[in-house]
Amino acid sequence: MPGIYIHIPFCKQACHYCDFHFSTSQKMVVPMLRAMQKEITGRLQESANEETATVYFGGGTPSLVPPDELARMLGLLRENYRVQEDAEITLEANPDDLNDVYLRRLKEIGINRLSIGIQSFREQDLALMNRVHTAGEALDCVKRAQAAGFGNITIDLIYGIPGLENADWKKNLETAFGLQVPHISSYCLTVEPRTALAHFVQTGKVKPVDEQLASQQFRILMQRMNENGFAHYEISNFAKPGFLSRHNSSYWSGEKYIGIGPSAHSFDGKKRRWNLANNAQYAAKIQSGETYWEEETLTPAQRYNEYVMISLRTSRGCDLQQIEKNFGAEKRDYLLGEAAPYLLSGDLLREENILRLSEQGKLLADRIASDLFIV
Ligand code: SF4
Repeated sequence: MPGIYIHIPFCKQACHYCDFHFSTSQKMVVPMLRAMQKEITGRLQESANEETATVYFGGGTPSLVPPDELARMLGLLRENYRVQEDAEITLEANPDDLNDVYLRRLKEIGINRLSIGIQSFREQDLALMNRVHTAGEALDCVKRAQAAGFGNITIDLIYGIPGLENADWKKNLETAFGLQVPHISSYCLTVEPRTALAHFVQTGKVKPVDEQLASQQFRILMQRMNENGFAHYEISNFAKPGFLSRHNSSYWSGEKYIGIGPSAHSFDGKKRRWNLANNAQYAAKIQSGETYWEEETLTPAQRYNEYVMISLRTSRGCDLQQIEKNFGAEKRDYLLGEAAPYLLSGDLLREENILRLSEQGKLLADRIASDLFIV
């Protein structure tokens, strides 16, 4: 059954690298939550009365929302979407929001997984990225969350930050391991167009990301995670046994999901739909009953490309039998033909009907996937 994603489109301040949809004005928080509640009740037929296994509050910064409002949203979901008793209910949070009272309330209302946007334990990295929290808050919030009873915690860490040397990165990782969290997501800093970071790089205020250093830091990441008992189950995600993200794993398995809120995406197995990425327009259209989304039906080529790209990023790999079943023997042969040079170079490995990226292939994941696409 569909997982449900709830996009909270507000942040205290704009991180320099971020191109997600959010507003730093919080005047609209309550009207926006009401509009999203209307979307929740208006899309009931899409759940086809199936049970909901996961709910994910993402953003933006969901930890800006008062617990009573989160509880109201969860209550509405439970009333309408058959949320399973043991559903995974994740809230993305920024370290500076996680005080003891807030954490206790989150626990009481049924949030059972926290995804904390730490990004770095170094003050200079946080300042360069314009994160709102300090290195001290990054450390303390995890301990406070654990003391409040949260065992299922994931933290985000960024590598490839200009000025972050390999020794600094190793230290960041050691600090993370010391916190005993069972899940870590780690991404290379990407300079997205039209962000403040892109402007700073263009004007020479910030050095560009050093690709070679970033690759070395990805290798260090894989090695240290492995040594510390984390499974590398998706290219940017590492988990201790029993702590894989159920919500994100369902995306990577191609399952249906419903996305609520401005800019949120939904997928019903064939059609992809995305809500307006404009808070005022989204709320106005919801209230007036107008269409607030666009959609497209994926072509077989798009579905094939998506399956290849996503499956190769996971440790499950790309299943040739699935390709044959869903797209035909001809596409399976095409895939094997395109994969041949990478099988020869050792970037791809084949075990019976499964193609997987090798450790060295993981460094080239996007390029390899795009070379296997149908164009
Ligand atoms: S808190 Fe998250 S969503 Fe908000 S600006 Fe920073 S990275 Fe983007």
